[in-house]
Parts: sequence; structure tokens; C-alpha cells
Amino acid sequence: MALRFYNTLSQQVETFSPARDNIVRMYTCGPTVYDYAHIGNFRTFTFVDLLRRWLRTNGFGLDHVMNITDVDDKIIRNAVAQRKSLAEYTAVYTEAFRKDCATLRLEEPERLVPATGHIDDMVEAIERLSASHHTYSSEGSVYYRISSFPGYGKLSHNDFSGNLAGARVDVDEYEKADARDFALWKAPKEGEPFWETALGPGRPGWHIECSVMAIKYLGETLDIHAGGIDLIFPHHENEIAQSEALTGQPFARFWLHAEFLMVEGQKMSKSLGNYFTLRDILERGHSPEAIRYLLASVPYRKSLNFTFDGLKSAKTAIDRLRNFKLRLETDRYPEGQSEELAARTAQACKGFTESLNDDLNTAEALGAVFEYVRDANSAMDAGTFRAGNAAAALELLALFDSVFAVLQPAASQGTSDAGVDALVAERTAAKKAKNFARADEIRDQLLAQGIILEDTKSGVRWKRKSP
Ligand code: AMP
Ligand code: ZN
Repeated sequence: MALRFYNTLSQQVETFSPARDNIVRMYTCGPTVYDYAHIGNFRTFTFVDLLRRWLRTNGFGLDHVMNITDVDDKIIRNAVAQRKSLAEYTAVYTEAFRKDCATLRLEEPERLVPATGHIDDMVEAIERLSASHHTYSSEGSVYYRISSFPGYGKLSHNDFSGNLAGARVDVDEYEKADARDFALWKAPKEGEPFWETALGPGRPGWHIECSVMAIKYLGETLDIHAGGIDLIFPHHENEIAQSEALTGQPFARFWLHAEFLMVEGQKMSKSLGNYFTLRDILERGHSPEAIRYLLASVPYRKSLNFTFDGLKSAKTAIDRLRNFKLRLETDRYPEGQSEELAARTAQACKGFTESLNDDLNTAEALGAVFEYVRDANSAMDAGTFRAGNAAAALELLALFDSVFAVLQPAASQGTSDAGVDALVAERTAAKKAKNFARADEIRDQLLAQGIILEDTKSGVRWKRKSP
């Protein structure tokens, strides 16, 4: 069966293929770099990674753009409070995000683009929207007039008629925004950093960055636009309003949205305080592979409840597969091939592929692999597994790992970058608390792995000794 995705726009499962050249033009909304991302954020980014990998397995090329939101209310508030420039403040969290992605084996998109690198493009787009009467200005800010775009609501399937008159919202913190006009350009408040532009001094709103960068790099109509489910409204609805007003073309053919990572029935989020960063979890001794596996194991359209027991089960599942692989690679089997087992392997491969083709049903895909491993292990115990069956079994594991990417242990690389960061932070805290024994212990532990710490005026830097 062909590859199918549930499209939020049509509310249907549709067969997918890219519109042109066998290349998938994909845009996914990236992080707001005001702090470390939490594993709820990484559930969505892990879904995007699985999507990338599975599209490639289907034979498609990728042109994937992800934005880094490096200007917004929270960033400005925190940077001003810490007397840092925006660039100085966001560099730390952009780098942390990239390191965390690498730790979780999330592939870097073809283009990872910062909003602040595209201010001129955004100003030009806002001018064009103004020229076509989609905006109005008020007190130095520019707003999008939703009543000028009749299609508003088509993604979230909300009927906004009668609900739109003239009101506006001056925040881009998305949990606070609502069904009303939104800011494209924001005049600076006292003491806030700003760009001096043809629109006057100010900074872009959040929504315009995605429209502008998506169209700039990928063209007027994307094959796929994806993000977390909380972005459907208003963010993606606003992106459609802006983009389609600019181009007159449908903005994206497929809209894919990942459900939340939950904690005890509530969305994991910064504002509720019920979150863990990747670093928090690594510090507790869990492996990046177990976290990746857990985040990947529930199909993206189902919410996933985070528990530490779930992480333990993820580890057990990975161990089972690693042990099976080791057994395949090291045990000796009688010559020849069992036709029955060959058919069983082919069936597992088909089950895995069809499950992922079915809107990335990862739970069923894993089911196909584990049922096979159970049967193959039994055949090995019974002496019916033959040497000639090993190659296909290893191929199945390779197919599995080209998407799930958990078989290679991270331990062979020593402590991950995020793990080192976490230990360095713990050492700094220990020193502050005058617990010098613990601080020295951490320094020695890292040194034993060839990681050198350097205390500088601006904090601790670290590097790996070249081998
Ligand atoms: P932000 O950095 O807040 O802009 O969020 C980055 C991404 O994480 C967005 O695509 C959000 O939809 C997604 N996200 C935020 N919280 C969660 C959660 N608890 N579970 C899954 N995705 C989330
Ligand atoms: Zn976006």
C-alpha cells in the first residue's frame, strides 16, 4: 500500500507523493530559543525526524526547512533582564537545541534558518500585504486584517464568521492568542531592542517568519507543513492567511500535526512546570536511545503519557533487539535456509513497511518487528533457524533502525554533548554550594573521558581532547 498521511486540512487520510521532481518540500516549525527545549517539544521533533527518514525510505528526496524563532516576547524579556543582546542570548539555546537534536539522533533539516536572518524579507512581505489591503497600522504596529481573508478557519475547521470585528491581540505567545487580528510587525516598547526598517522601528510577529521563510526557500506551495497540534490555531491558520494572501496559491498540500506528550493527564509545558529537559533525563541515567524510542513508539496522532516506567520499558525493548542482533551476528547456525522462516521474515518486513506507510503507525511497525523477533528466537532455540536466514533478518533490523535509530549504543561515544553540559552545570552548582568534593569528582570523571574543562570569566567552557 502506498504512503498515506492524515491531512489536517482535508480531515482525510490521503495518499502522499510530492508535487514535483520527486523532492518533498517540507516546512516544520522549529523551537523558540528562549530556554532549553523540553521532551514534549522533542516529541514533535522526533515525529518530524521519523517523517523525514520514512519519506526517504519511500524513495523521495528532501528539501526540509525548519525555523529557529530567535526573536519573541519571552526572548526579549529574558535578554533585557540579563543585559544581553538578542543574538548573545539566543546563541546559547540555539546551540543547546542542535546538540540535543544530535543526542536524540534527529537529523538536521536541509536548512535550519533563524528568523532574525530574514527581517528584510519579512518587511518586504508585510509591505506587499499592506499594498493589497490585508493590513492596518496602529501605534507603530502593523496588523493582519483577518476579515480580508475569506478562507480563514479552513485548517482548524472553525467558523469565525461574526467573531472577527476589528479586535486585535498584541502578543505572540501562542497560548494567549485567539481568533482575532494578529500583529505582523510590533512597535518596540520602552527599552526593547528593535530593527529600524521601512515599516518603522520594531520587530516581526511570530507568524510572519514561517510564511516568509517557507516561501523563500520552498516556493509558493509546500508538499508538507508540520508541527505540534497546538500550532494549528492560530499559528498555522495565520500562516495560511498571510501566505495565500501573498501568493494566491494554496500554501501547503499536506498539514501534519503531532499530538502532545502528556504528564499525568496534562500537556507537558513550561508554563505548567511539569516538564523535563533532555538534560534532566540524561542526568538521571537514562540513555538518549531510550528517550528516542519512547517518543517514537506511540503513533504521532495519539497523545503519549510520559512516565519513567515507560522509559524503563523502552530500554528493555531496545535491549531485546540488540541481543537479537548480537545473536544473529555471533551464533552459528546449520547451513542452508528455512523457507518457512524466509517467508516469516518477508512478512515481518512487509508488516513493518505497511504500518509506517499507514500514516506512520509506529506502534504497529514495532509490533511487526517484535513478533518476528519472538518467532526467530524460538526458531534459534529449536535449531530450525539456518545460516541462510540471517542476512534477511539483519536487513529487517537495518530497515527498522534506519527509522528508529536506537540499535547503536550511545555509550560507545562516551558522554553525549548534552550529558557533558548537564555535568558541567552540576559542577557549577556544586561549587556555588561549596561542595568542592563533588565539583572535583565531576571534573575527574569528565577528564577520564578526555573532556577538558576550562574556567573562564564568562563561565565554564569544555572541549574534547583529540584522540
Ligand atoms: P516552541 O519552542 O514552544 O515554539 O515549541 C516547539 C514545538 O514543540 C512546537 O511544534 C510545539 O507544538 C511542540 N510542543 C510543545 N509542547 C509539546 C508537548 N507537550 N508535546 C508535543 N509537542 C509539543
Ligand atoms: Zn511556524
